[in-house]
Amino acid sequence: MDKKRYIVLQKTNGKCGHCGKPIVGATVTFDHVTPKYYGGTLHQNNVIALCKDCNKAKGSSLVNIDKYYKFASKKAKIQAKFYAIDFFKDRGRFFNKKERSVISTYIKTLKKTI
Ligand SMILES: [Zn+2]
Repeated sequence: MDKKRYIVLQKTNGKCGHCGKPIVGATVTFDHVTPKYYGGTLHQNNVIALCKDCNKAKGSSLVNIDKYYKFASKKAKIQAKFYAIDFFKDRGRFFNKKERSVISTYIKTLKKTI
């Protein structure tokens, strides 16, 4: 296993970050916490391991990090929150009005839980 996979799997202790099902080898997917749809990257702080079903179901939605990633470490969740807050700073112009409203609510919620 390469180092990056190892670090990501450590965040959830080898489980799916959402449903807690053990994930090994081919069944692991790397979820973008800040979705690719919004431009989120595979930066280490933006990735949490999910099983394929959970990743597919999450799609490109902005989830409540604390509630959604029940099986991720506190540290992993904090890292993902800071990534999102930093990511969306000064990026408003890239999104339409509806998206900006969704993002603004999301960031406010994140800031309350840090
Ligand atoms: Zn799952």
